[in-house]
Amino acid sequence: MGGTIDDFARAKLASIAHHGLLRTIKDTDCAEGMAVTRGGERLISFCSNDYLGLAQNAEVRAAAKAAVDRYGAGAGASRLVTGNHPLYDVLEEKLARLKGAEAACVFGSGYLANIGIIPCFAAAGDIILADELYHSCMERGARLSGAQTVLFAHNDTQDLARKLAEHRPAVRHALIITEGVFSMDGDLAPLPAIMELAAAHDAWLLTDDAHGFGVLGGGRGSAAHWNVKPHLQMGTLSKAAGSYGGYVCGGGDVIAYIKNKARSLIYSTALPPATLGAAIKALELIEADAMLAQRALGNAKLFCSLAGLPVPQSTVVPVLYGAEEAALAASQRLEAQGFLVAAIRPPTVPRGTARLRLTFSATHAEGDIRRLAAALAADAGQYRAA
Ligand SMILES: *Cc1c(COP(=O)(O)O)cnc(C)c1O
Repeated sequence: MGGTIDDFARAKLASIAHHGLLRTIKDTDCAEGMAVTRGGERLISFCSNDYLGLAQNAEVRAAAKAAVDRYGAGAGASRLVTGNHPLYDVLEEKLARLKGAEAACVFGSGYLANIGIIPCFAAAGDIILADELYHSCMERGARLSGAQTVLFAHNDTQDLARKLAEHRPAVRHALIITEGVFSMDGDLAPLPAIMELAAAHDAWLLTDDAHGFGVLGGGRGSAAHWNVKPHLQMGTLSKAAGSYGGYVCGGGDVIAYIKNKARSLIYSTALPPATLGAAIKALELIEADAMLAQRALGNAKLFCSLAGLPVPQSTVVPVLYGAEEAALAASQRLEAQGFLVAAIRPPTVPRGTARLRLTFSATHAEGDIRRLAAALAADAGQYRAA
């Protein structure tokens, strides 16, 4: 019924705030290592996805600077026009090798990768079977595809088998989508069993390895950890690789087709050279030093053993509080003690599962991990392990 756009926005904000879900974006400056400053306070961050500390690594920074000096600040156009500077080929070759795939395609971000890739392989008349905890950008990609999307219970291969049996016969193509490491829970998808189901039901598998790449399988990701080859392995260069950009690895023809079809690749400007230069150096460091990945995982394990939590499968450790206010209050108590730990609320996670999401990096100091475990233990009784 009319009204100004400002009135509209204010009413929407009031409703979000009423539900305890108002989000504010806070300035956070990098200090050194995993330390940051926020509002003048120095905090140790346990909520960055920079699992290997490569965003601050001296060699990675130098590679980014060298790329700017050689190629400039921006790419100037889409990769299909004039934006495809030579660093793209170098990076895609390195990615394919590291992932044991024939070819790779780099996108502007992981989000752009998922909304671009999924519509390449599913359309109206096809079916997408998605783990119910799949990331928001996979959900958007599935929606854009026009295919019917059926959710299966989280990591429940019996439910997936049932749904494949029910829906597969009536459609042309079936695409299963899941995360190698679940971003908010840190658990792993049972990829070998899912691959078997895909083969049995003539379906394709797309894995989103945003949190497995660099960490699992000696840095090669969750598929390497399980020794399987999903048809499409998507991931991001913005987490363990410390830079920015998304990617997908697969067969040579599959990747060539994606480069001809994915709208988020074709109609979006190529990444800046510095971003690719940094990513290339990060991949070299990951490939050269399997201990980097070991250290990140080792830090998560040390924390969980000290805090009395189950052994973690990845560098993501959830601590469940349930109510939004409880998770927020816990985050604030930790901040007062010098730790930056994100409270994650719906709709990012299902209602009633608000949590602290702790992430561990290869560069966290043991003393900081011990202090955090002690601080959380002092909060005991307020949370339950996931
Ligand atoms: C972060 C994330 C993405 C998006 O990647 P960006 O490069 O940050 O856009 C996609 N999927 C999952 C599971 C993620 O956690």
